[in-house]
Amino acid sequence: MKPHPFAYRRADSLAAACAMLDAHGSGARLLAGGQSLIPSLNLRLSQPEILIDISRIATLRGIRIDGDEMVIGALTRHADIETSADVARHLPALAEAARQIAHPAIRNRGTIGGSIALADPAAEWPAAALAFAMRFDVVSSRGERRLEADGFFKGLYETALAPDEVLTAVRVPLVAGRRAAFGELVRRSGDYAIAGAFVTAGRKGANLISVRVAYFGTSDRARLARGAMAALEGSSGDEAAVASAKSALEADLDPIADLTNSRATKLHLSGVLLARLVKRLAA
Ligand SMILES: Cc1cc2nc3c(=O)[nH]c(=O)nc-3n(C[C@H](O)[C@H](O)[C@H](O)COP(=O)(O)OP(=O)(O)OC[C@H]3O[C@@H](n4cnc5c(N)ncnc54)[C@H](O)[C@@H]3O)c2cc1C
Repeated sequence: MKPHPFAYRRADSLAAACAMLDAHGSGARLLAGGQSLIPSLNLRLSQPEILIDISRIATLRGIRIDGDEMVIGALTRHADIETSADVARHLPALAEAARQIAHPAIRNRGTIGGSIALADPAAEWPAAALAFAMRFDVVSSRGERRLEADGFFKGLYETALAPDEVLTAVRVPLVAGRRAAFGELVRRSGDYAIAGAFVTAGRKGANLISVRVAYFGTSDRARLARGAMAALEGSSGDEAAVASAKSALEADLDPIADLTNSRATKLHLSGVLLARLVKRLAA
């Protein structure tokens, strides 16, 4: 299939992108890495009047440490996160997750900002954002906002971003002593996950504290598993706590079947993942 006809303009600055969004309203779409947008145009799932190409705005790309945060520009590619020395040092679970996103050709173009703005329920970054309590910098011609990941993902491909807003950066708090574990279950390497999760926690003695558990691939959006988090909080990650956390997952996730996996399978695999990841964190 061929896309519906559309106009194309390249924005050379953030201000230009905002002005173009204002001028074209809901008929416009930002183009970042194009790894989700272009296929959706070709399938005519999306028929914008104009694409506003932001991919060459250099200020939106790169990874830096800013005090107690890592700031990842929205145009930073999955491959940049996979190979960053700063990410490897401070947030190795993110590098591990980046390696599971599709294939090298897609990772060389697709961006973290595009993934978070799209909010595909099977994507890694939205769940990472919830587990690491990330925050998002957002700009429009009306001004700037900083949004918490918690509450940002509203539903299937639905976020708190307004149509005239550009996501400019992702802020990851760097928390001393925090551990993180990531895992996903896939049929073939590079496929979207059947179920995937990030678990983060601190340690107080032998016990896990400030536990966050976020899933992708199981539901209509990336979700925090709040019941499971409560069951694990203050525990040593022992069998009883994990069993109790697993039993909270059905209400936490309200899993939905995909083309090949039933709700029951998703729920079972989510529990399997949880046990594995908690074991790694508590070790
Ligand atoms: C075969 C295949 C397999 C894939 N497998 C995976 C996978 O396993 N895991 C995974 O996570 N992803 C996967 N992807 C998707 C890929 O990671 C995309 O790169 C990502 O979802 C979108 O990033 P992008 O930069 O390409 O965004 P684009 O495709 O350019 O844009 C996506 C959407 O986000 C909007 N947008 C982009 N940037 C911004 C911004 N800065 N501010 C506001 N809105 C913005 C666009 O307007 C558009 O609506 C796969 C893609 C393909 C084609």
